[in-house]
Amino acid sequence: MKRVLILTASFGDGHNAAARNLCDALESLSSEAKVEVLDLFQSSYGSFNTMARKAYSGLVRFAPALWGGIYSLLDKPRLADGSYFKLGRLQRALGHLLQETQPDVVVSTYPVYAAVIRDLYRDHAERPFRLITVITDSITVNSAWLQATSDIYCVPNEATAAVLRSRAVPAEQIRTLGFPVSPLFCQMPEPAPTDPGEDGPYRILYLINTGKKKLGKVLKKLMEREANHLTIAVGRNAYLKAALTEKLKRYGSRAQVLGWTNQMPQLMMTHHLLIGKAGGAVVQEAIAARCPMIANQVIPGQEEGNARLLLDNDVGAVAARPREVLEWVKQAFKRDARLWRRWRENLQRISRPDAALQIAQMLLDECESGDKGAGPPVQISTTPSLTTSSAAAASPLTPTRQLLCDFHIHTNYSDGKLSVSEVVDFYGRRDFDCICITDHLADSRRLIGKLGKLSRLTLSPNQLGEYFDVIDRERRRAWRKYSMLVMTGLEFNKDGLTRKSSAHLLGVDLNIPIIDCLDLPETIAQIHAQGGLAVASHPHIMKSEWGKNTLYLWQNQERFVPLIDAWEIANRNNMFNPVSAKRLPYLANSDFHKPKHIYSWKTLVSCEKSEAAIKDCIRKNERIAITLYRENQSSMQFLTPEPIADVTDSTVLCQDLQRVRPLFPAA
Ligand code: ZN
Ligand code: ZN
Repeated sequence: MKRVLILTASFGDGHNAAARNLCDALESLSSEAKVEVLDLFQSSYGSFNTMARKAYSGLVRFAPALWGGIYSLLDKPRLADGSYFKLGRLQRALGHLLQETQPDVVVSTYPVYAAVIRDLYRDHAERPFRLITVITDSITVNSAWLQATSDIYCVPNEATAAVLRSRAVPAEQIRTLGFPVSPLFCQMPEPAPTDPGEDGPYRILYLINTGKKKLGKVLKKLMEREANHLTIAVGRNAYLKAALTEKLKRYGSRAQVLGWTNQMPQLMMTHHLLIGKAGGAVVQEAIAARCPMIANQVIPGQEEGNARLLLDNDVGAVAARPREVLEWVKQAFKRDARLWRRWRENLQRISRPDAALQIAQMLLDECESGDKGAGPPVQISTTPSLTTSSAAAASPLTPTRQLLCDFHIHTNYSDGKLSVSEVVDFYGRRDFDCICITDHLADSRRLIGKLGKLSRLTLSPNQLGEYFDVIDRERRRAWRKYSMLVMTGLEFNKDGLTRKSSAHLLGVDLNIPIIDCLDLPETIAQIHAQGGLAVASHPHIMKSEWGKNTLYLWQNQERFVPLIDAWEIANRNNMFNPVSAKRLPYLANSDFHKPKHIYSWKTLVSCEKSEAAIKDCIRKNERIAITLYRENQSSMQFLTPEPIADVTDSTVLCQDLQRVRPLFPAA
């Protein structure tokens, strides 16, 4: 078994993206590699870290010049020695972790870790693993990266390699393999944009983090030109999404507004031009996708290097003012898109869409070359809970305990706080056996008056395909990593003006989307046609902190009892005694929207761990039980991922050292 530990931090741009992409690449290359991504700042400093990160993003957004000053302060060599910050707690945590997990290779995507590791092994023997630093900066390389020596430095491009050589890093320790963008950039069949002829269409992708005053004007000006087609991605800002959708409605299909999306690789690869800030991950992804970029914001520090990367390689432009953005868009497509073609040709030369796979292969090779085997392995101390849980992981198909399930979970595709992958990690780390993701799909015929406003909190029909793709991808990862089943579902919201005319229906374990505007019996028929379960959600009166009651199904039992597979007997903290009194088939679910909702009612099923077996038990109303889920409250503060605004660098990885699941389960 090859064990790789990847260390990251949520400060700045690109570190988490690099860590997550390397993890994906390693897992796709090798089934025997055990990979773990950790943010020790999050584990060791908890809420302090969250505060620091918020202060960081606040500074970057509102006072970039001030951040520039702080950045140069951080660039002082003393930082990594802990003279500015006390890194003692982090160092102890890392020491404990290395002892416990004995990785073959440790990868650092954040500058401070190499120095912490050097200090850990200062007094005694050689460190028993290879240390690889993956530098996420380009050209302006923060000197903290080079504070302590690593065995190998991976750099994104030749210019950065030259900077390292000039700072006396031996050439044989430098690998120019590219920035580890998502492996999806090279695993997809080449979806290139069509040739932009004289009159377009020019497909422009606009990444927006904040609704600045002048934004409306720029968008309007861009849309004035008939040839321009705009796709706008606003990240997690649902309100901005709603406002822009409203504003751009009159341009019809020429303007599309997306919320948070997992499809950035596809989007970049199918657009002619990208407009966005010069974040490390975004610039590198644009280069991988061969999509010329106009940087409309450059924060002093790392981003200056990213902007120089665009200019030095002649693959895009930097626009200091909104007016310049418009000017560059015009220039790019002038005279049969001459400038655009030149950018694109240059991109062809420097693009490395397979960088994550290349680095991952190198890491796997390093696992073998590592200096190991001197003496017997160090005793790893395990707590009783670790032992039982690794035994269970050994044979996922024949569990000795009841399966812990939750069939009602929302993500940020509707009004949930976490992304699909964050939900998978959140439940996976808690040893759940089966979950179903059920984002809201509102009936567009019923969105009348005030209710229309709710629509921004539900899946938009044009994202349904993406929603199914993303959950399918996460389903495979969840099984590999946690032996957890992930089902795709939808919560059909059929809201009327009163509680008696409102119903919420879960479709559990769907293969393909179902449209929103069918009536209830038709929706149920479509769910059944796919082998899915139709479940009445919160069918009775709730004492709920939000939302109104949905009693339609309950009040029309004679019609729906024969059609519905199960009724929620409990939803989060609410219990519905009448469901039990009528002996209806039942389920208990979280109706999860945010981490604290994990403390709620759940379903237990005693059967083989497969979708078919679980659904069979539910339909027959056999071997089903419910449980009120509780866990160690103190671990919550570490395990609450804080969503961050950036569109692409959105992977928040945090973990507690006293986890339920061992880092590297026994093979
Ligand atoms: Zn609901
Ligand atoms: Zn719900």
